[in-house]
Amino acid sequence: MVAQVPAGLLDLYDKLRVQHGGVGAAALRQGRCQGCNLTLYTVDLNAIRAAPADEVLRCEECRRILVRTADSGL
Ligand SMILES: [Zn+2]
Repeated sequence: MVAQVPAGLLDLYDKLRVQHGGVGAAALRQGRCQGCNLTLYTVDLNAIRAAPADEVLRCEECRRILVRTADSGL
């Protein structure tokens, strides 16, 4: 799994993990949390879309920090 993640994102994950007490991070891709493969509801995606870029978003299922990407499907 780690091997598929671009190096830049890995750095970000590490920073987020330190900042948030060991909670891992997962990329949001095509409306889906890459940590637990949960497909987010449209209402959640709308909230993410409306959230400021620096707001920390959590997956409701696995509690990982969701990292928005160009491929987030927003
Ligand atoms: Zn998740």
